[in-house]
Amino acid sequence: MYLSTTLRTVVFGAALFTLSTCARNPVSGKREISLMSTEQEIAIGKESHPSIVASMGLYENAALQAFMTEKGQAMAKISHRPDLPYQFYIVDTPVVNAFAVPGGYVYFTRGILAHFNNEAEFAGVLGHEIGHITAKHASRQQTKQLFGTLGTIAAAIYNPQLGQAVQQGAGLLLLKYSRDHESESDQIGVGYSSKIGYDAREMANFFQTIKRIQDNSGQAVPNMLSTHPDPGNRFARVNQLAKEYQAQNPSNYAINRNQYLKLVNGLVFGEDPKQGFVENDMFYHPDLKFQFPVPNGWQYQNSPAQFQMGPKDGKSAMILMPAPGNSLEEAAQALVKQLNLNVLENTRTTIDGNPALVFISQQKADPQQQGQQQQTQQTAANTLQIGTYLIQHNNAIYALHGLASAADFANRFPTFKSVAERFRTLTDPDKINRKPDRVYVKTVTRSGTFREAMLALGMPASRVEELGVLNSLKADDRVAQGDLIKVISK
Ligand SMILES: [Zn+2]
Repeated sequence: MYLSTTLRTVVFGAALFTLSTCARNPVSGKREISLMSTEQEIAIGKESHPSIVASMGLYENAALQAFMTEKGQAMAKISHRPDLPYQFYIVDTPVVNAFAVPGGYVYFTRGILAHFNNEAEFAGVLGHEIGHITAKHASRQQTKQLFGTLGTIAAAIYNPQLGQAVQQGAGLLLLKYSRDHESESDQIGVGYSSKIGYDAREMANFFQTIKRIQDNSGQAVPNMLSTHPDPGNRFARVNQLAKEYQAQNPSNYAINRNQYLKLVNGLVFGEDPKQGFVENDMFYHPDLKFQFPVPNGWQYQNSPAQFQMGPKDGKSAMILMPAPGNSLEEAAQALVKQLNLNVLENTRTTIDGNPALVFISQQKADPQQQGQQQQTQQTAANTLQIGTYLIQHNNAIYALHGLASAADFANRFPTFKSVAERFRTLTDPDKINRKPDRVYVKTVTRSGTFREAMLALGMPASRVEELGVLNSLKADDRVAQGDLIKVISK
């Protein structure tokens, strides 16, 4: 069911390019070719929102939500486009990111909210995202990234440079803006956050946090960086812009550290195991009570709508998702129709005692796309071949798809098969009852270094750097008795 939504997004994204009018940009004041009317922008936000919720889930937290909405609406009022129906959401992912969709939809991940250390940092990023909306960057961007998930993966298989898109997974709607747009949004963010009373130098400081996350991540972690320019340069520029703004508009700009920290006390941190987690090359889903292996060295991305994984060469991928229909046959028929598949063979079997149906298919060329690309011949190299295992488990049906090009499929299929055949019911209580980490705000009881404070609060030495990033402090930085500080525990 999610597949149909995301594939529709692909088609919809392509359609945007055909609509164009000339209008005055609300931020720059310049006349320019604008591809979208305000009504179209709002329609895109409305259209995209359910896919974003399906792909990431919303995180419920009344106090944080109320704070975001209050600041968001205050900023909307002083923005260049106060009349848009702005909405602010917390998405349930540990990834450190924030993003905006045309029409006034702004999203913060719980990962980024955990990493802010004061209201001013939040306000700076809020201003940056609202800036993308008010400056109509989505209308102006040349390379649209409104890929559906399966579309993204298929694209990555044919173009390894897009492999990063697969790693992003939930990046299905993370619009890629140009460097110029990012710079413009940084500048707008300085103005907007200052106008609602915050010290925009804190926005610059947050780029230092981003830089540390980037430096510490051994692998290509999907975060703000993959869609944004070098955080080091942005720090210097935003800091300069903030200083200039404050020199011209002297006032008492707020930072509000303690107020903000109290808001994030108890926030879930990192992966939430109840949505599924990987440990020792095995994916476990405590709520749905199943497990299956993740081939050694594969990268993966988990979201409420699906789990996807693939080798680093980006030339194949596997996706597990709920399948539509009440029986295996119904599910197969629905998928064949939704994905426009040509079935080559199918077999009934059982996996761990669960009824299962296996079919191999090829995706037929999309007639709409063919029209645009003037009849590209379908060849084994550019045809997507899919090995689908439909497994009936606990009154639900899951589709485990293995994707590769038709030319490469025979090489890749044995791995798909071994993963699917090792699908099992999860019974281990240690996995089923796994609790998430949370951010807790503690008071420093004795002045000293940040490291000493963390150790005194029972944090392991091995996590001091990670906790330092979270607190925007270095191990040897001084903290004073009575300071509030974030720790991570169950
Ligand atoms: Zn941006």
